[in-house]
Amino acid sequence: MTISGSTSQSEALFSRAKAVTPGGVNSPVRAFKSVGGVPRFIVSAQGAYLTDVDGNRYVDYVGSWGPMILGHDHPAVREAIAGALSTGTSFGAPSPREVELAELVTQLTGAERVRFVNSGTEATMSALRLARGFTGRKFIVKFRGNYHGHADGLLVEAGSGLMTNAEGGLGAAAPSSAGVPEEYAALTLVGEYNDPAALDQLIAERGHEVAAVIFEPVVGNAGVLIPTPEFLAALHRVKEAGVVLIADEVMTGFRLSLNGATGLLGLKPDLRCWGKIIGGGLPVGAYGGRADIMDFVSPQGPVYQAGTLSGNPLAMAAGLATLRELQANPGIYTQLEAYTTRLANGLKGAASSAGVPLTVNHVGSMLTAFFIDTPAVRTYTQAAPSDTKAFARWFQAMLSRGVYWAPSQFESIFISAAHSDTQLNATLEAAQTAFKEVNS
Ligand SMILES: *Cc1c(COP(=O)(O)O)cnc(C)c1O
Repeated sequence: MTISGSTSQSEALFSRAKAVTPGGVNSPVRAFKSVGGVPRFIVSAQGAYLTDVDGNRYVDYVGSWGPMILGHDHPAVREAIAGALSTGTSFGAPSPREVELAELVTQLTGAERVRFVNSGTEATMSALRLARGFTGRKFIVKFRGNYHGHADGLLVEAGSGLMTNAEGGLGAAAPSSAGVPEEYAALTLVGEYNDPAALDQLIAERGHEVAAVIFEPVVGNAGVLIPTPEFLAALHRVKEAGVVLIADEVMTGFRLSLNGATGLLGLKPDLRCWGKIIGGGLPVGAYGGRADIMDFVSPQGPVYQAGTLSGNPLAMAAGLATLRELQANPGIYTQLEAYTTRLANGLKGAASSAGVPLTVNHVGSMLTAFFIDTPAVRTYTQAAPSDTKAFARWFQAMLSRGVYWAPSQFESIFISAAHSDTQLNATLEAAQTAFKEVNS
């Protein structure tokens, strides 16, 4: 990390951006609204580092919000994209890499069929339409603070950027966005994550009307929340009521293991959604699972879903290279977890010697440090009272020392295979001073 501290070029770009783009960004949380200050405009990324337009170099803990598990500019991924580039960028017809990536995804995950789309939002939206088409039922169930992309019916008690950007602050009431008709939101029933009794009751009363239960198998979008075994058991019981169980693995897929959270936690979802890592840094999403359900998708079945750029050859090449690299080096997962555990312990130690209350949740290479004085954070409701002002001071103190943390209290940070002792030591050194600045 090399920090001049100058942000004048980022400031200039941000004011130009604000004149032509709402809020100056193409995805809300990038605007630094909940931490203040100017968002850094990034010109290049390499390994575990980001470099901004003013020449500041940061240790990156955002990893493009998940995709960059191998680190930035990984040679195998770069070469795969370059190889695809020389043969044309889009065909609008089936091409070999789509088959190869679908075969690899089914092999790694046990899903029987997979359909590629262009984002995680499209994946969850399409999986829910499919579940409705398959069951002939209207309602869906999601959980408070879980985020499944920005389709209308999913912007209800949603997490991620909505937790800190919403008017009125935390816990925005349903629907969580203007422009979502109450009639759409009314088809979404909301449960509390890690509350198995409430889910059992909801399904007992309304199960016959529910097409799908969608959930984050490890939550990243309310900060990291880890499911209890009892909650996972209740999730699986919904299948007895003919409800399609959808694990949204857009964040956790290929991150928590080669078979995502499903592999790590022994889940048996009917359908899964993927995004982020599956595209290796290019725009890809996917949904897949049981053949009898997936065969309802057009043109095989009656549920329509299409995409001009779906299965794009560059995107497939990046996804294939990334998944093949992970498959060839499964030791990466142990390495990521070891780094994350040491980071968690180091942060707890530094916070406690500075007298800052901190609860750290982490699993695999996902971690959130909640600025809250409580023994455990397991639900959105427990996470919500975190001290976002203290977090913002800490975030700025870290950034000024060359550590680029996720710019919101309620996000997971991501470790990549390019993070090593060098970055860990520098991060913990910065954290020791940053925690002291939180209280001063
Ligand atoms: C990021 C994310 C999405 C949305 O994916 P996009 O590619 O941003 O549309 C959906 N679900 C989960 C769990 C996510 O983390």
